[in-house]
Amino acid sequence: MTIDCASSLPVVVSNSVCTQCGCVCDDIGLVIENGRITAANNACDKGREWFLGNHEEGDEFAFVEGKPAPLTEAIDRAAQILLKARYPLIFGLSDTPCEAQRQAVALADRVGACLDTTTSISHGAFGMAFQEVGEVTCSLGEVKNRADLVFFWGTDPATTHPRHGERYSLEAKGLFTPNGRSDRFVVVVDVDETSTAKKADLFLQIKKGSDFEALWGLRALVKGLATRDDIGAQTGIPLEVLKALAERMKSCHFGILFFGPGLSASRGRHMNAEAALGLVKDLNDYTRFYAKPMTGPGNVTGADNVVCWQTGYPLGVHFGQGFPRFNPGEFTALDVLGRGEADAVMLVAIDPAEHLPVAARKFLGSVPSIHLSDNPKAEGNDRATVLFLTATYGIRAAGTVYRMDDVSLPLRPVLATKRPTDEEVLVAIERRVHALQVESGMKPSSSSKRAR
Ligand code: SF4
Repeated sequence: MTIDCASSLPVVVSNSVCTQCGCVCDDIGLVIENGRITAANNACDKGREWFLGNHEEGDEFAFVEGKPAPLTEAIDRAAQILLKARYPLIFGLSDTPCEAQRQAVALADRVGACLDTTTSISHGAFGMAFQEVGEVTCSLGEVKNRADLVFFWGTDPATTHPRHGERYSLEAKGLFTPNGRSDRFVVVVDVDETSTAKKADLFLQIKKGSDFEALWGLRALVKGLATRDDIGAQTGIPLEVLKALAERMKSCHFGILFFGPGLSASRGRHMNAEAALGLVKDLNDYTRFYAKPMTGPGNVTGADNVVCWQTGYPLGVHFGQGFPRFNPGEFTALDVLGRGEADAVMLVAIDPAEHLPVAARKFLGSVPSIHLSDNPKAEGNDRATVLFLTATYGIRAAGTVYRMDDVSLPLRPVLATKRPTDEEVLVAIERRVHALQVESGMKPSSSSKRAR
């Protein structure tokens, strides 16, 4: 339901979807008055700030060289930039629906671009681990209804996913967990005593950079094998505690291991995640145990899924030779920008200030750039060669997003907009590129001209 902005009577829209973290809460009650959201019931502070802070100002939504331009002119200029470039980079995609992400992949394929998502600078290591060892997984609904042992390893959802505990993993009451929190034993493993650690039944303070050793030691103990005697000194967790933990894991009815940036951003990176996934796989010889990464904000899980199903790889994909090639470190955005390889950059639904280091942001200003953004104040938008101000997904644009457990949810826009959606802009650019290729007698896919 899109609300008539002229209406001054408060309208309540129930079951709206918040996309500000991987929980993707779909029980938000929005109150709309005079074309603005004035209340977001059930939302946490983070979600409320996003809903109540959404305003669209001005009627202009397409800009070329900083000046308002007709949409067709901006589309044409964007297409020309991408066609002319020998190493275009398309980056971002985590704050837009799957439909737009799919179009970004199609555009990258058409122009032979390097395509990367914000996953590469957050939990990219997990995607690499899944490719190596797979994932024993479940939905958050199963966690809510069944989990009697909950692990948080290197993650602090009380800060990053504020309603995770209330909806799924701590206080939530389910079919086989009718008493909520008292039906669960909660373990937190982290280098510091986080907000989540304060709510745990057991907090294990691990030495920085020793996650792999602790996880591998647990794998041995679960299988009844010996592990190093000095594992306590190495990890900060005494051997006896690890032994008791292994027994607890084997004897639970339904265990879940949530893991986060503590594993992906510390020594070992994807090997840490592989160790966690291997531990969970081993535990299934004794009981039901699952693993789930705590993914970042927005529709980053959607980006992982879309890029995987379209290219076979989760991130860092290059179409320069006419087929997708995957090589993290070579085709990931930070590396491409850091080495100054890209000669044109398209940013889709990303604020560089939140995701990129200063050096990469500086480089952005030195090449032609195309930005698709719902926030005119996002860093670098004023310097973009072509800027499209697009409709905010979930509030003003429809589409599909993925929750952190890979469950897809439809978005229902509640406010009207004059702006195009990310998907519409990407489709128009891709069509214009195709038309220009046909006009110039170039092959419909130009990727073969760039032997990168
Ligand atoms: S927990 Fe996450 S998805 Fe839910 S309301 Fe808060 S920010 Fe939004």
